[in-house]
Amino acid sequence: MRAFHGTQQRDGQRRWGIGFLADRLRAAGDRLFCSDDERAIAYGWQVRSGRFGLSRTYRDPRFDQFAECGFCHGWGSVFPGHPCVQCAGTGCITMGEPLPDEGRLVR
Ligand SMILES: [Zn+2]
Repeated sequence: MRAFHGTQQRDGQRRWGIGFLADRLRAAGDRLFCSDDERAIAYGWQVRSGRFGLSRTYRDPRFDQFAECGFCHGWGSVFPGHPCVQCAGTGCITMGEPLPDEGRLVR
């Protein structure tokens, strides 16, 4: 019974220590990426924090609107030498209404 309490206490201390360390790492990551996060948010990008906050992934949500052109199947041309009329030869179309550029950072 006594050993059980000792094990519980050690587990609790270890969990507290790991939580404390994870919080410190996350705070360090927040300080490290602060200016990059602010810039990304100003651009309207999505910011995802990695494991323990020590990495970041930035993504422009406008990429969700790109799709392969259904007319030329992404080739940009149906007949050789003639660009696709649906996608103007890019092989890619924009779905829905374009997102506004209001969130763009202008300095
Ligand atoms: Zn096309």
